[in-house]
Amino acid sequence: MILTRRGLMALAGTTAALSALPAFSQDKGTIGIAMPTKSSSRWISDGESMVKAFTEAGYTADLQYAEDDIPTQLAQIENMITSGVKALVIAAIDGTTLSNALDNAAAMGIKVIAYDRLIRDSGSVDYYATFDNFKVGVQQAESLVAGLKERFGDVKPWNVELFGGSPDDNNAFFFYNGAMSILQPLIDAGDIAIPSGQMGMDVVGTLRWDGAVAQARMDNLLSSNYGDKQLHGVLSPYDGLSIGILSSLKGVGYGSGDLKMPIVTGQDCEIPSIKSIIAGEQYSSIFKDTRELAKVTVKMVDAVLSGAEPEINDTSTYDNGVKVVPSYLLEPVPVNATNYEEVLVGSGYYTADQLK
Ligand code: BGC
Repeated sequence: MILTRRGLMALAGTTAALSALPAFSQDKGTIGIAMPTKSSSRWISDGESMVKAFTEAGYTADLQYAEDDIPTQLAQIENMITSGVKALVIAAIDGTTLSNALDNAAAMGIKVIAYDRLIRDSGSVDYYATFDNFKVGVQQAESLVAGLKERFGDVKPWNVELFGGSPDDNNAFFFYNGAMSILQPLIDAGDIAIPSGQMGMDVVGTLRWDGAVAQARMDNLLSSNYGDKQLHGVLSPYDGLSIGILSSLKGVGYGSGDLKMPIVTGQDCEIPSIKSIIAGEQYSSIFKDTRELAKVTVKMVDAVLSGAEPEINDTSTYDNGVKVVPSYLLEPVPVNATNYEEVLVGSGYYTADQLK
């Protein structure tokens, strides 16, 4: 989708809406935005916020989604390069597969911003805009432990199973390592048991963040390890996985009768998961305000294209295998039944009606 000022005017429809549009400067060129998939609403919000912010800053936005297919995303990026975009903003599906295309971009003077997910193995990535991904994992584990205490008190050890994100997404390792920085000491102390013994990203990763894959793995974990044991908690790194995990749990009776629902974490505050939190099923999620990430990214691109230094706040964490990519990290916010209204509705991210 390419949205220009004229496109926005057409979308606005009425004269009243038109006069409410902000004043635009001259067209500063096209920015290619490559997003992974529309199957998760967070990426749709990211795309919408960026098109709006780039358009308001005087750019034309070329927004493409690749439905989690690596060759499709590569082809989209190659087309953007050929069509002469000024900059590329990329949330990669597989962070290691774009090197050649990005070298071509760099040779043409096109600036490259890694969006949310680090692009690995390439020297042609200029900047990285994201959230503090290690902290996301820390917050997930802290909320898991708080929930275990609240729901299961002193029945120790708490039986927990671990899920990781997609092993081709650099973030997945940051989430997992952040979470384990909290959980490992409790495992070592015997407060938490992992009855399946399955630990480490090579074992607990979930390719393409696929909820169905997580559901099938949860089914297997339950049937092989929980014949005579109760599960108390599941570390889930993303709402889409949590939904699959919860349906597996419900399938064997958790959440009804005497079998309390295990504490299940998440990330992204997607609407079905917030509804699940309100219904007392999923325990928590992590809010990452995609409007803020879009703003930071647009400011970054605007600065780079006008020859200025963009604002960054981290120059050490994100080594992509070739260089440490200068980054701007935003703060994630833990959300559960006690604060979702204040954080999500209060900030205008959702309306109260959307959560009914
Ligand atoms: C993002 C998360 C998201 C996940 C699945 C990660 O790279 O940082 O916000 O939950 O991808 O889409």
